[in-house]
Amino acid sequence: MVLDISQYICRDEVISLTQSLVQIPSVNPPGDSPECAEFLMKKLRSEGIETEIVKAPGSCISNVVARLRGRRTGKTLLLNGHIDVVPPGDGWTVDPFSGEISHGNIYGRGTCDMKSGIAAAAAAIIGIHRAGSPFNGEIIFTAVGDEETGSKDGTLHLIDRGIIKGVDFGIVCEPSNLEVDLGNRGCVWMRLTIQGRAAHASRPHMGSSAISYAAKLVSALESLEFKCCNEIFEVTSPSLLVTLIRGGVKVNVVPDKCILEIDRRTLPGEQVETVIEEVSRVIASLCDDNVKTQLEVVKGWDPYVISPEEPVVQALRRSCLSVLGREPKMGGKAGSTDGSHIATKCHIPTAIFGPGNPVLSHTANEHIALEDIFAATIIYSQAAIELLN
Ligand SMILES: [Zn+2]
Repeated sequence: MVLDISQYICRDEVISLTQSLVQIPSVNPPGDSPECAEFLMKKLRSEGIETEIVKAPGSCISNVVARLRGRRTGKTLLLNGHIDVVPPGDGWTVDPFSGEISHGNIYGRGTCDMKSGIAAAAAAIIGIHRAGSPFNGEIIFTAVGDEETGSKDGTLHLIDRGIIKGVDFGIVCEPSNLEVDLGNRGCVWMRLTIQGRAAHASRPHMGSSAISYAAKLVSALESLEFKCCNEIFEVTSPSLLVTLIRGGVKVNVVPDKCILEIDRRTLPGEQVETVIEEVSRVIASLCDDNVKTQLEVVKGWDPYVISPEEPVVQALRRSCLSVLGREPKMGGKAGSTDGSHIATKCHIPTAIFGPGNPVLSHTANEHIALEDIFAATIIYSQAAIELLN
């Protein structure tokens, strides 16, 4: 069956919900999610939708979990997104928390990444609920407060609590320009501590400079060539970049310590262990006995990709065709999302689909086209009803 959700929720209501979410700053770090989570919970509860706030022990982060049950038992669909946003930074020409509307766009931090996706998913379940929940099974909506700093108190906590269990289909509502992403590249964050020996800078031969060694290492690491390739992804090969460097104490001291942080993006099939071995081999190839190195993995997201034939992908494809009048492109995200955890830890086929151009995420003057938010609302609701009937 096709449900005409626009009979139950209108465009202006979805836009005003987006605006309200943007006007509540939920910046992370430090993790200011409670007010935004409370607002969303109240909105869903006022509609009669079973909603609760879930927190990890000792954490200030709030996650919203809502459940909508259908008429009979059946399969379960998860709609997941995050309410935390990165700090606004400089360069804005509008107030980043105004939710200002201009020329068919709404402006503000999180408009694109990803309060529009949250508003569209919330509006979809509100509309379905108002229509009398014409489906079988359950829709779980999770709006987490910790994604931008690594998901520990957000989606990973919900997984630990067993909230994302027994789910058959997953949709992560991150911005995808209303195209369908079949997965995302993984990510391994590493920290390398280089220990040299201090000396007076007038006698450099008496010490060993951790910075000089780091310079050689950065260039060797960034010269690595990666053979594997996957055409589905926006960035088709793995990548490595040294993204942070910290070292030295004073202009006339041979620096005895330098820290490098390395961002390594992985494709499906690559393992964390092989990535560590690869970096260790580069370190060994420089064979410098005057310095000691220590490599540690700080955080990781697994890469994943699902088949375009998965029912969740096909349901999104058909909904796009009916709402937008076009076939969505099938791709894969260059960066990581909570889809990594949902797909690889819970083994749920998870597509990434949402309103907004991902290139605008985390930028000054972040914005989104109003039309795309309402289109996403209708697409989510149609896909949900198709999957759960
Ligand atoms: Zn995001």
